[in-house]
Amino acid sequence: MQTNFSPEQLADPHVAESEKILRKCVHCGFCTATCPTYVLLGDELDSPRGRIYLIKDMLENGRAADTETVTHIDRCLSCLSCMTTCPSGVDYMHLVDHARIHIEETYKRPLKDRFARAVIAATLPYPSRFRLALRAARLARPLAGLLKCISSLKTFGVMLDLAPRAVPAASDGARPAVYAAKGTPRGRVALLAGCAQPVLRPEINEATIRLLTGQGVEVVVSAGEGCCGALVHHMGREEQALASARHNVDIWLKVAEEDGLDAIVITASGCGTTIKDYGHMLRLDPAYAEKAAKVSALAKDVTEYLAGLDLPERGARGLTVAYHSACSMQHGQKITLAPKQLLKRAGFAVREPAEGHLCCGSAGTYNILQPEISAKLKARKVRNIEATKPNVIATGNIGCITQIASGTNIPILHTVELLDWAYGGPKPAGL
Ligand code: SF4
Ligand code: SF4
Repeated sequence: MQTNFSPEQLADPHVAESEKILRKCVHCGFCTATCPTYVLLGDELDSPRGRIYLIKDMLENGRAADTETVTHIDRCLSCLSCMTTCPSGVDYMHLVDHARIHIEETYKRPLKDRFARAVIAATLPYPSRFRLALRAARLARPLAGLLKCISSLKTFGVMLDLAPRAVPAASDGARPAVYAAKGTPRGRVALLAGCAQPVLRPEINEATIRLLTGQGVEVVVSAGEGCCGALVHHMGREEQALASARHNVDIWLKVAEEDGLDAIVITASGCGTTIKDYGHMLRLDPAYAEKAAKVSALAKDVTEYLAGLDLPERGARGLTVAYHSACSMQHGQKITLAPKQLLKRAGFAVREPAEGHLCCGSAGTYNILQPEISAKLKARKVRNIEATKPNVIATGNIGCITQIASGTNIPILHTVELLDWAYGGPKPAGL
C-alpha cells in the first residue's frame, strides 16, 4: 500500500512503525473472510482491510479520530484472526494498538462512555476491587433490565448481567509463596496469578500449582505482582498499561536474579499475548527495553511449558472434550497443537468445533462495551461447540470461560484443570 507521510511525521517512532505496517498491506482482502465482525456485519469498514484504510487516513492526515473511525475500531475484537490469514504478514496488532492510543488521546467520547471506561479501568485489573464489585453486582442484579433501558447507564446494566451469580471465596491455595517441587526437580517458574481470573475461578491457579509441583517444577507466585496491563492496553490507556508492564518486569526479574527462572507461566492466554509483547511495548524506554525483552522471552503459556515436560501417557477416561482455542492462544501466540496433544495424552477424546478461528465475543472488555456483537458471536460459538456433543469444554483463557459458560449448560474448564485431574489432582467441580 502506498503511503504519504511527511518526514516530520515519520520522525515519530510510532508513526514510522505504523507506516511500515501499512506499506505491507496489498489490499488483497483475504483477511475479510476470517474477520468475525465482517462475517457478522458484512460492512467493509468492519473488516481488517477497511479498518486499515481508516487508520491510514487518520494517521496520514495527522487528524484527531472522528466518530466513524472510532465506531469501526471499537468494533474490532483484537482477535488477530486477520493476522493468521494475511499472506503478506501485516502486523495488524501493533497498528490497531497505535490507533487505539491515538483515539484515546484525540477523541472525546460521550460522558457516559468515558465514565464506564474509567470504572472498568479502575476495577477489573485489581482483584480486591473486582471481588467487591462482583459482590455488589449480585445485590444490584435485579436492576440490570432497568439500567439497560437507560442509554446513559446501559453499560452498567450489561456488567450486572455478566457478573457471576456466586463469587468464590479468595483462594488460599495460590497465595504469594514458593511452592516446592515434588520428586526429582525439573525446573523453576514464576506463575502469573492474574487479576480477574483468581477472583472468578481460583481453581485454575490451584490446579496449575498442583500439576507443576507434582511434575517436579518449583512454582513462585510473587508478592506484589499485578495485572499484566492487557485490559487497559486494549482500551488505548497506554500509560496505565506501560506502568503495569514495568511493575511486573521489576518483580519477575528480581525473582529471576535471586534463584533463576526457566519461565514465567501464564494461564490466561490474553495475558500471555500481552506479556510476550512487553519487549515491544517498552522498546522506546531506555531503562526498560532490555529488561522487558527478557521477560517476554521467558513468558510461556502453561500448555506451552507443559508440552516440554513430556508428561506420561494416560489411559482413556471416556470423556469427550470440545477444545475451544482462544483467539489470543491461536492467533496471538500461535499455540495450536500443544493443548490438544496434552489433553489426548492425558486420556481425553478431543473434538474441534467448526469455525474454530472465530472469536467467542469475550475479547477482554468487548462483551461489556459491544454487547450486541458479542452476544451474536457467543451464540454462534456455543452452537458450534454443542454440535460436537462434548461432555466438557476446555479452553485456556478466563474471558472465554465466562463468556461461553453464560451460553451453555455444558461444563467448561481450563485445560489445566483437566490435566491436573488426569495426573493425580481432584476431579474438577462441575464435572
Ligand atoms: S482483529 Fe479480529 S475483529 Fe479486528 S480486524 Fe482483525 S479479524 Fe477483524
Ligand atoms: S490479508 Fe493482509 S495484505 Fe490482504 S488486505 Fe488483509 S491485511 Fe492487507
